[in-house]
Amino acid sequence: MPSGLPVVIIGGGAAGLLAAGRAGELGVPVLLLEKNKNLGRKLLLTGKGRCNVTNNGDLDTFIDNYHGKGRFLYRAFHRFFNHDLNALLQKYGIELKVERGGRVFPVSDQAADVVKALLRYVRQSKVEIKTEENVLAILVKEGRVKGVQTSQGIRRCQAVIVATGGKSYAATGSTGDGYKWAAELGHTVITPRPALVPLNIPDSWVKELQGLALKNVEVALLQGEKVLGKEFGEMLFTHFGVSGPVILTLSHLVVEKGAQQGLSLLINLKPALDEKKLEQRLQRDFQKYQRRQLQNALDDLLPQRLIPIVIELSAVSATKFVHQITKEERRNLVQTLRGLSMTVSGPRSLAEAIITAGGVSLREVEAGTMESKLIKGLYFAGEVLDLDGVTGGFNLQAAFSTGYLAGENAAQVVLGHIN
Ligand SMILES: Cc1cc2nc3c(=O)[nH]c(=O)nc-3n(C[C@H](O)[C@H](O)[C@H](O)COP(=O)(O)OP(=O)(O)OC[C@H]3O[C@@H](n4cnc5c(N)ncnc54)[C@H](O)[C@@H]3O)c2cc1C
Repeated sequence: MPSGLPVVIIGGGAAGLLAAGRAGELGVPVLLLEKNKNLGRKLLLTGKGRCNVTNNGDLDTFIDNYHGKGRFLYRAFHRFFNHDLNALLQKYGIELKVERGGRVFPVSDQAADVVKALLRYVRQSKVEIKTEENVLAILVKEGRVKGVQTSQGIRRCQAVIVATGGKSYAATGSTGDGYKWAAELGHTVITPRPALVPLNIPDSWVKELQGLALKNVEVALLQGEKVLGKEFGEMLFTHFGVSGPVILTLSHLVVEKGAQQGLSLLINLKPALDEKKLEQRLQRDFQKYQRRQLQNALDDLLPQRLIPIVIELSAVSATKFVHQITKEERRNLVQTLRGLSMTVSGPRSLAEAIITAGGVSLREVEAGTMESKLIKGLYFAGEVLDLDGVTGGFNLQAAFSTGYLAGENAAQVVLGHIN
């Protein structure tokens, strides 16, 4: 490591690794402190272990995908965007591929490969890494960062980058420490709350479907009769309710509504067919299976486990022979297939959220450098900031980009180019 007081980076996740790599690359001493035994623990969980590293959308698409706060990221993306990430990962041995919705994954489908590549980057950048070192406080004198207090003692430094992540999936190390320090140092911290979070559904039939995944469905979130949002794609039934990409995307509207009641989900199981076409389709199936009971006549249309539920919710007898089914009963079936309705009792807890919404207020952070507007030499990067994106690689790219920008600018403090 080069000599002199270092840039200290707190947290070896997506943002911290990029910050460390970039600062080290510029030739300044860098000390990366991580309380876990290993770096990148949360990264290993991402994309169900495949790591959806980024999205191949353009800049405007990105800016639109952070619930109105994307403009803050313009300068970070300008400095380090998805193609830069691609080039960096490629340099360290990772080839990427694009999937549905522009989601970008490593060709190997292994999040561990992404972590390995980022470790190569920080090592090549001569970053000193200390794991199992828990940072307890940031030391500030006369409005300027002087060091950090850790489980091992005091470490003096010229700049600190807080890359401690959010407050969800705490077992990965993100326990909200950065929020606490930021608040102690006078920053406004927008109350952390769950984002991209599964939903609790009290209806008992939902639990019977635990483990069932539905593809190509359209899910609408309603408050009373009013449609608050609508998404198309994949969802999953769980022991407590529903999850999966479509549900996670809609969840921010549920969180926004707080304790308000009257929320429900309406699932259109056959969104490619309008009402008339779906009725014709049912008629064709009933013609084909005219000697069967209804419970044995829907195999072409629905997953097995869904059949008894749809029949029950349509209030038609499961044992009725299909040639006896009345027009009205057929209509009921069509209605259910196009609007499987369930009550939403609320989001799951922050602990189970993919992302923590809220965090260090963007108003008090320079968008062009990631430096605190209140304390010299203090930088923030990644999920600790009041930013949360939709699914599809947007959250990791925000962490990588803000980390890179913070690393680059914190290095300038040491190089004496600023301040
Ligand atoms: C299950 C799951 C799947 C996900 N999948 C995706 C995906 O496919 N694509 C996507 O874009 N996003 C995904 N995300 C979100 C993404 O993982 C986060 O946005 C990203 O990891 C945030 O990076 P970060 O560096 O800010 O924080 P983290 O990755 O949380 O890193 C923070 C680090 O700081 C360390 N730390 C905290 N406090 C201290 C302390 N006091 N002292 C020392 N070290 C400390 C922690 O141990 C941790 O290693 C997923 C999240 C989850 C939970």
